[in-house]
Amino acid sequence: MNNELAQAVYDRSPVWMQNLLLSAYGFSLYRARYGGSYRQHLARLLRTERYSRSELAELQAVELRRLLTHAARHVPWYARLFAEHGISPDGIDPDNLGRALPILEKDTVRTRTGLLIADNVAGGALHTINTSGTTGSPLVIRATADALRRNYAFFERFLRTAGVRSRDRSVTFAGRMLLPAGRLEPPYWRSNWAMNTLLCSSYHLSDSTAEAYIRCIARFRPRYIDAYPSAAYTLALYLTERPELPRIRPKAIVTSSETLLEHQRALIEEAFGCPVYDQYGSAELAACITQCEHGSYHVNPEYGIVEIVREDGRPAAPGEAGELICTGFLNDAMPMIRYRIGDSAIASDRSCGCGRAWPVVESLLGRVDDVIVTPDGRRIGRLDPLFKGLTGIKEAQIVQVAPNRLEVNLVRDNAYDPSVGARLVEALSLRVGRDMQIELRFLERIPRTAAGKFRSVVSRLPQPARHGVEAVEQRLYS
Ligand SMILES: [Zn+2]
Repeated sequence: MNNELAQAVYDRSPVWMQNLLLSAYGFSLYRARYGGSYRQHLARLLRTERYSRSELAELQAVELRRLLTHAARHVPWYARLFAEHGISPDGIDPDNLGRALPILEKDTVRTRTGLLIADNVAGGALHTINTSGTTGSPLVIRATADALRRNYAFFERFLRTAGVRSRDRSVTFAGRMLLPAGRLEPPYWRSNWAMNTLLCSSYHLSDSTAEAYIRCIARFRPRYIDAYPSAAYTLALYLTERPELPRIRPKAIVTSSETLLEHQRALIEEAFGCPVYDQYGSAELAACITQCEHGSYHVNPEYGIVEIVREDGRPAAPGEAGELICTGFLNDAMPMIRYRIGDSAIASDRSCGCGRAWPVVESLLGRVDDVIVTPDGRRIGRLDPLFKGLTGIKEAQIVQVAPNRLEVNLVRDNAYDPSVGARLVEALSLRVGRDMQIELRFLERIPRTAAGKFRSVVSRLPQPARHGVEAVEQRLYS
C-alpha cells in the first residue's frame, strides 16, 4: 500500500474487499512495471543474454562511460568528487574502475541523499523506494520509472531461465503486511488477480498454520513460488513430515532476500520436486546476481559491475571471500557507483557450462554485519554446516550478544533430545573457541525482522562506523 490512509482503509476492510483493493493496486503496479519501455528492455536483454565475453566487455564499457559522464555533469556528489580529484570519466573503464574511484559508503547515501540525486531528472516523476532496517535509519532511494521497468525486465529474464513467466500462476510470500500480525485464523493469504498471484503472509507461517497454507497452495496449483528461503523451507519441512498432506508441484521455486543455505535448498527441492533458483538484488538498484540452470550464481553484466574486494581494498582472488562493491547502470536518478552494499561473497574465475559468458560468483555469504567475531578477532560467517546431521532441530539462529557470549535460538521438534544440544554446543565451541560462552534458548518461533526476513546469524555487537546503517530489508520484487 502506498500510504497510511490506504493502509488504514485496507486494514478495516473485509477479506473480499482486501482482495479487490490488492488487485486494483496490482493493476496499477502492473502498469508501472510492465508499461512504457519494458518490452524493449526485455527484448534487448534476451538478445544480449548470449553475448560473447568481448561483446559484454564492450557493452559494459559503453554503459559505464555513459553513467560516469552523466554523474559528473548532473549528480552534485560526483561532480564535486571528480573535480576535487581531477578525475575525468573518459579515463575510466571497467578494468580500472576499482583503482580510479573511491567506495561509496551506505552512510553517505543516508546522510547525503540530496547530493546523490541528479539535477536533470524531474523530482515529481521519480519513484521512492524506502528501505526498512531492523534498527537505525532507513535509506531513501529515488529511481526513475524507466529504471524500475528495466529492473523488472531483468527479473523476467531470470524467471524465464527458471522456465516460468511473471504472469504465470504464482504464490508469493510477501514481506508486506497483508493482515494484522495477531490474526490467528486463516486465511493468511490474499489475491492479486492482476498478477495471477496468491499473496501469502510470511509473518503468519509457523508450525500451527503450515497445514492451512499447504492445503490452500495445493488447491491454487501455482506454476512457481516466489519466497524467502526460510518460508519455503518451513513449508518443505512440514510437507516432508506429513506425507498425507496434498503435494505441491510447481515448475520452479524462486528465492531471494535472505542467504539461501545449502540444507534449505536440498530439502526444498526434495519436498516440492523442482529446482530452486536463487536471486540477489537490492533496493538501491546496484546489482543483479541470478542462478542459472546449472546452479551457478551469475552477475548480470548488463545491470552493472560487481567487484568483490578484500578488507585491504584489493580484488579477492578466486575462492576468497570479500565484500560486494556494486556499480549499477539502471538508475540515472541516483547512480550508485562503487557502492558498498553490505553483503559479502566468494569470488570465482570459472566459466559456467550454461554457455553464458557472465561472471560467476562462487557463493553469496550474506550480510557483512551478520558474522560472529571471536575474542581472538576471527570473523565467522556461515555456520549452517554445524547443523548438518543434527536431528530434532527445525530452525536455528546464532546471536552474538557480547564479545564473549553467544545465544543459540532453537526451535525443536519431537525428535530432539538433550544430547543433540550438547553436540551442537561442542561443534560450535570448536569453531569459535573455548573463550566464548554459549547458551541454548528454546523458542516456539524465531523472530523475523521488520521486513519478515529470517537471519541465521545476528550480531548485536556495536558495528564499525561504515556499517552504521542497517542493511537494506526491502524486498524489491514482492
Ligand atoms: Zn551458468
